[in-house]
Amino acid sequence: MTPLPKRRWSRARQGQRRTTIKLKTNQLQVCPHCQALKEPFVVCSNCGYYNGVQVITPKVEKPAKNEKPS
Ligand SMILES: [Zn+2]
Repeated sequence: MTPLPKRRWSRARQGQRRTTIKLKTNQLQVCPHCQALKEPFVVCSNCGYYNGVQVITPKVEKPAKNEKPS
C-alpha cells in the first residue's frame, strides 16, 4: 500500500500552493546584425545570422492574398 493523503486539500489551499507556479517569458536579446529581438543562443529568425555568420536564409515574406498584383 502506498501512503495516501489523509484528506483532500481544499481549493483554497490548492490555489495557495499554485500561486508560485507561473509561466516564464523567454529572455530576448537584440540581434547585433539587424537589431531585431531574438532568443539568446538561437539563430536570428529575422536575418538568419548567428555569431556574425549567416547560417540560414530567412524566409521571404509573401505578399498578402488581399493585395492584387499590379
Ligand atoms: Zn538578426
